[in-house]
Amino acid sequence: MKQIAVIGSGTMGNGIAHTFAQFNYQVNLIDINQSALDKAIQTITKNLDRQVAKGTLIEDQKTTTLKNITTYTSIPDGIQNADLVVEAATENVDLKLKIFKDLDEYAPAHAILASNTSSISITQIAAVTGRGDKVIGMHFMNPVPVMKLVEVIRGYATSDETTRTIMSLSQSLEKVPVEVNDYPGFVANRILMPMINEAIYTLYEGVAGVYEIDTVMKLGMAHPMGPLQLADFIGLDVCLAILKVLNDGFGNPKYAPCPLLVNMVAAGKKGVKTGEGFYKYTSGSKDLVVSDKFKKS
Ligand code: NAD
Repeated sequence: MKQIAVIGSGTMGNGIAHTFAQFNYQVNLIDINQSALDKAIQTITKNLDRQVAKGTLIEDQKTTTLKNITTYTSIPDGIQNADLVVEAATENVDLKLKIFKDLDEYAPAHAILASNTSSISITQIAAVTGRGDKVIGMHFMNPVPVMKLVEVIRGYATSDETTRTIMSLSQSLEKVPVEVNDYPGFVANRILMPMINEAIYTLYEGVAGVYEIDTVMKLGMAHPMGPLQLADFIGLDVCLAILKVLNDGFGNPKYAPCPLLVNMVAAGKKGVKTGEGFYKYTSGSKDLVVSDKFKKS
């Protein structure tokens, strides 16, 4: 396996492209939005510079990593020679089903089609292709170059051979793959999202403020980041989409998204990616500043 196509160059796509390219795979990075591709290359360059400054990478490896990435703006390009496609486009079922239909049409017959989806059914995605045995979930964590876990999700039809290939491919990226079955939210988000939703409810009901909720979880439970800061980091739109999948998939109201989360996404306050969520993010500043909306008077 040498040639990897990555679909979507947002938060996750650029990290996935970076990681494969760093381990000497040839990467075709595809996004319908040219400015997302430009931003992705800038982000990858900045993150590689950080690795060089830390001494975990040498300058030559940075140059090779960047050379290993080629960008494209439409799906047939960059797909025809892929051994593996990793889809990391926006978390939307209809969009993913359309992308997988196209991938099935244009990718070589031997290619494995993986999705980085946080919560959408791999079985449902596989069903729109003619190669369900070669469709699998490859759920990287954010930031991809740093986080060790890959949740490898077996759909109903995923073969043992595809699973074995993806487990050992993940190890070749120095990641730790964990095999799980395809049920809503898999393992990571089935456990994480109800906690984030509960933290938002705790704020919504006035039990405590943003700083207090995150501090309780950081200092009390030794979490490296509070749940509200983590939600901003993941993207509030992504959190909302995952909670909807859990709510629909299990039909249990305990997963219903908090109305405050719904409102924030509708208002365009999606966290780090839009510059504001529970906190305000000013470029260049590392200080954690609670958003004006949640400041105590
Ligand atoms: P994002 O919004 O940052 O990026 C999505 C990108 O997909 C955008 O650049 C968009 O232009 C592109 N796109 C949309 N339609 C496309 C198409 N038809 N073809 C090619 N590109 C297209 O989203 P993200 O946070 O990177 O999430 C991507 C996927 O990764 C989602 O499935 C999400 O659930 C999953 N995920 C996200 C996180 C996280 O922390 N953000 C973690 C794990 C998994």
